[in-house]
Amino acid sequence: MNQLKPSLLDFTLKELTQLVKPSFRAKQIYGWLYHQYTDSYDAMKNIPKAMKEELSQKYLVNPMKIIRKEVASDGTIKYLFELQDGKTVEAVWLKMKDEIHEDGKLVQEAKYTICVSTQVGCKVGCSFCLTAKGGFTRDLSAGEIVGQVVALKRDNKHKHNRKINIVYMGMGEPLDNLENLAKAIEIFKKEEGLAISGKRQTVSTSGLSNKIDQLGAMDLGVHIAISLHAVDDELRTELIPMNKAHNIDSIIEAVKRFPIDTRKRVMFEYLVIKNKNDDLGSAKKLVKLLSGIKAKVNLIYFNPYPGTPYERPSYEDMFAFQEYLVKHGLLATIRDSKGIDISAACGQLKEKTEGEL
Ligand code: SF4
Repeated sequence: MNQLKPSLLDFTLKELTQLVKPSFRAKQIYGWLYHQYTDSYDAMKNIPKAMKEELSQKYLVNPMKIIRKEVASDGTIKYLFELQDGKTVEAVWLKMKDEIHEDGKLVQEAKYTICVSTQVGCKVGCSFCLTAKGGFTRDLSAGEIVGQVVALKRDNKHKHNRKINIVYMGMGEPLDNLENLAKAIEIFKKEEGLAISGKRQTVSTSGLSNKIDQLGAMDLGVHIAISLHAVDDELRTELIPMNKAHNIDSIIEAVKRFPIDTRKRVMFEYLVIKNKNDDLGSAKKLVKLLSGIKAKVNLIYFNPYPGTPYERPSYEDMFAFQEYLVKHGLLATIRDSKGIDISAACGQLKEKTEGEL
């Protein structure tokens, strides 16, 4: 890990300004990186050759390359990246809203979300997750987190000033790599770069309650989403072993302390698994648990993969669960199974590719 060469994407504009003089060069380089999505020094035409040569000795422009891409029928695109050390991570490009045309006129621009990885592997060990099976390898650097978004915007010809949402929900537990995550969030927010505000960035965590507090103290203006998945500690520990150290009550208390934009809701992800947590008794407990929190519950169909003991719930049970939550005052949605035909659940493309190599 230590011998990995840093990249220009690892630097905030302030840090880059300290690296290159005069300082307007830093802004020019930022423009190449985040407005042109340049991935080579050669392309940076207005930067002096000597400066590029000096920088290239120490820093890569781009720390990763796309080695596999799968496009689903609903427009979801899943990418597999190879990093400098040969490790691989995934990112997903999600089309959230269709373009609606009336009389041939565009009335609603398509909205996109990028799902980003923060680690190679993961320590949390969720029993339903393929990433967990491979254990933990290493944290991603800030540049490797930033690089996923730049690469996906470049590949989809998405202009730098078009709005996009980021969810830190790919491989890894983002709060277990808090320092690099926070730096990537700052880099994304920078006006001279991609200008993706905090409110367009959502950190999805399996619930490291102490780190939720630390993220809150950084006051980055981001949203949080909690992978709750269960309403009692016994089942939650079966699904997410780390629940032993960060139980449901500690997570709920940390969420209550988190600085939340008053116009927004905290998202609770609830992976619905047949005969495990899809009954109305669980729905009732969930309503009680979230009382007092401005919450939104995202019900997600469990997406089976080879070898899993868990099953997908029925449509009837899923809708009954949602109906119960809504009737009792919670905002609850059912997540589309986006990309179901390209194994878009976390870790599945990586597993598939490694199985074929
Ligand atoms: S679901 Fe997320 S937190 Fe859990 S093991 Fe997989 S990558 Fe880690």
